Amino acid sequence: MFDFFRRLAELNPSPETELEFGNTYQLLVAVVLSAQATDVGVNKATRALFREVTTPQQMVELGEEGLKQHIKTIGLFNSKAKNVIALSEILVRDYGGEVPEDRDALVELPGVGRKTANVVMNCAFGAETFAVDTHIFRVGNRTGLAKGKTPLAVEKQLEKKVPEPFRVGAHHWLILHGRYICKARTPECWRCPVVDLCGYKPKVMEKGAAKPKAKTGSRS
Ligand code: SF4
Repeated sequence: MFDFFRRLAELNPSPETELEFGNTYQLLVAVVLSAQATDVGVNKATRALFREVTTPQQMVELGEEGLKQHIKTIGLFNSKAKNVIALSEILVRDYGGEVPEDRDALVELPGVGRKTANVVMNCAFGAETFAVDTHIFRVGNRTGLAKGKTPLAVEKQLEKKVPEPFRVGAHHWLILHGRYICKARTPECWRCPVVDLCGYKPKVMEKGAAKPKAKTGSRS
């Protein structure tokens, strides 16, 4: 486990989310918008939005219809717009316009699930949280690093097993590893930096080779 993360860390010492944001509130909004959407698609929509809106108060003033105009290229934009306005109203009313540094408070906000709260706690507040998305779920199960039938089960395994000093960066390294190397359809084992530490069999050791049949635990 230590070597697995040491190698990923050596390749990318300062991993960051690929979502673009200027402050913690914008990060929260971007993560809410990113559910079932790509970071690239969210960034395209939020660039103009975040020039106009930097605080929950400004979002409330923009209103649901105004927000929809900015995010209509993102899937589920109607319900996401509703949630973002509702959560912004709560931040203004109950938290003085600030994003609370508290996972339990975050998951009470409309549109904010455990994964979103974990991303915000990690990326904004440096908390040792593990936001299990489809990539981490797959990589955890495939490699044997953190096996579990549900995202929460995988999260609990990671919480228990990821060593210092990799706990804060772990979720970024696993997402990037899953996104670019240990891909859902065909893992690129031939260029994987942790190939000798991974329990997945059989591996894809040749570029262009079909993925062998194996139980992967992947949900995508
Ligand atoms: S060896 Fe293959 S299956 Fe294992 S982590 Fe690397 S890319 Fe994924």
